[in-house]
Amino acid sequence: MCGIVAYIGAKKARPLLIEGLKRLEYRGYDSAGIGILSDEFGLEVAKSVGRVSHLENRLKELGGFDGSIGLAHTRWATHGGVTEANAHPHRDDKAGICLVHNGIIENHSALRKYLMERGHTFHSETDTEVLAMLIGELYDPENGTDLEAAVQTALREVKGAYAIAVICENEPGVMVCARKGSPLLVGVGNEEFIVASDASAIVAHTTQAFMLDDYNVVKITREGFRTSTVDNVEIMPKVTELEYELEQIELGGFSHFMQKEIFEQPASLRTTLGGRIDHNEGKVVLGGLAQFAKELVKAKRIILTGQGTALHASMIGEYLMEDIAKIPTECEYASEFRYRNPIVEDGTVVIAVSQSGETADTIAALREAKDKGALSVGVVNVVGSSIARETDMGVYLRVGPEIGVASTKAFTGQVTVLTLIALFMGRRRVTSPERCARIMNALDAVPDKIEQILATNDEIRRITERYVERNNWLFLGRGYNYPTAMEGALKLKEISYIHAEGMPAAEMKHGPIALIDEGMPAVFIANKGSQYDKVISNIEEVRSRGGHVIAIATEGDEEIRSVAEEVIYVPGCPEPISPLLTVVPLQLMAYHAAVLRGHDVDKPRNLAKSVTVE
Ligand code: GLU
Repeated sequence: MCGIVAYIGAKKARPLLIEGLKRLEYRGYDSAGIGILSDEFGLEVAKSVGRVSHLENRLKELGGFDGSIGLAHTRWATHGGVTEANAHPHRDDKAGICLVHNGIIENHSALRKYLMERGHTFHSETDTEVLAMLIGELYDPENGTDLEAAVQTALREVKGAYAIAVICENEPGVMVCARKGSPLLVGVGNEEFIVASDASAIVAHTTQAFMLDDYNVVKITREGFRTSTVDNVEIMPKVTELEYELEQIELGGFSHFMQKEIFEQPASLRTTLGGRIDHNEGKVVLGGLAQFAKELVKAKRIILTGQGTALHASMIGEYLMEDIAKIPTECEYASEFRYRNPIVEDGTVVIAVSQSGETADTIAALREAKDKGALSVGVVNVVGSSIARETDMGVYLRVGPEIGVASTKAFTGQVTVLTLIALFMGRRRVTSPERCARIMNALDAVPDKIEQILATNDEIRRITERYVERNNWLFLGRGYNYPTAMEGALKLKEISYIHAEGMPAAEMKHGPIALIDEGMPAVFIANKGSQYDKVISNIEEVRSRGGHVIAIATEGDEEIRSVAEEVIYVPGCPEPISPLLTVVPLQLMAYHAAVLRGHDVDKPRNLAKSVTVE
């Protein structure tokens, strides 16, 4: 998920790789490492937790690392904590393999078991080391399985996503790279090659490059390269001119990280879901919860807690847990929960939700619940963060680093993970296999449906433009989409500084309706669901007082056009899944409003990405 740079040529690899890693730093990472092969010193590997500059200093102390073939990595942990042992490169214990990897090997447990039975010893908790060992296990040059063939064979056994670069002590002039799912570019210079996960690490050296396609493997020597599929069918990649400016590359052609992250959601959710739904068994597979499955099934009460966007995801979690798992659930602001001496009875499970895993109030609420005997679950994005460490068990979001301060892909990741947890418990309790299967199928379809919504971005911008001068907005929804309305209001206020309120649509009549006049846009989440007719009545109430209605509606609903001035359509889906779709237009509206008002979208005033103080 983070960064790879690799070099083979005539120059010293070390400075080039360190410079490349620095160019990838903007992507966010937690540790870094480098492996270099030279005649004099053989294969040398150095790793360090934290900044690339730590690694650079370490290398200065060490000396050596003198060769002109090597690979380097910035890690953003998904499997195993943030430790030096888990940082890349990883090596095998037999054939002199050294490998860096971005992505996730989904069947790592089965492969690890197989390799341990064959006598291999592992030194890290990562999925990546399994791949290094597997390549080493298969490597057998005397019988025709050289590095290239060993990588191809190994990748045929692997499920998941990867971009990898591999070198081998026994073949000192060869590098093999491959990809599936995670990007990898090969820069073609003059008798030298620079491979990297994005162009920013390449353009300083060459502008000629090609992107590896999924399931493609490239064998590179100083003289040239050969590209093939994992089944060894040779292919001819097209080398083209890289024409971006550096800054543009970092943003991947987007103007802001928030925009990039909104558009990344189909891909990030595919990773969140990867390997976690077993359709054959009709079950959700969550390794992090397996050990406690019995306790979770017997839970008498669930408390979900978080702040900000994570609180809104938790509010949706409350509906999910009661609806699917049928366990009484409450959602609490962590900041309130921690101080109100809450009652935590036997059989209570607390679920702490946080992107960073470092939110101060959420950590304190978690500790309070644990002190009182609750079993604890972490739903966080950052591996090895405080909440991940302090909870009894957890499920990572796996959405990759979120750089924009306004959370978008972490929100959809949190809601997806909470849906998986509800299914994990529900299927073992009361929910019928048929209903679980329906929801699981619907979850699987979410990434494609978000793609359809993103395709209407221009229309969403035009609608936002018509109302962007208004200073007060309402966001209204019912049931599963009442929290979505809250999230829509939060997005708008935090980056565009427009005053917005989100609330259950029925609450409006109890006071806020007094605010409605011609100047007030009201965004209704009016997708087809059990409370659709009630939402329509609420829309009528706003219209009859001169308010302007923007409706988020289900595709095919033409009727709604008679009551709403503006309609943004999302594809239909079962109700519990709907927030994952209805939130996307709200994220885009907030983004466009902020850009139209001329604000710094990625660094809104007064806000920090991770709130580590009360
Ligand atoms: N899954 C691997 C790990 O946790 C790779 C993570 C990355 O892409 O940086 O080490």
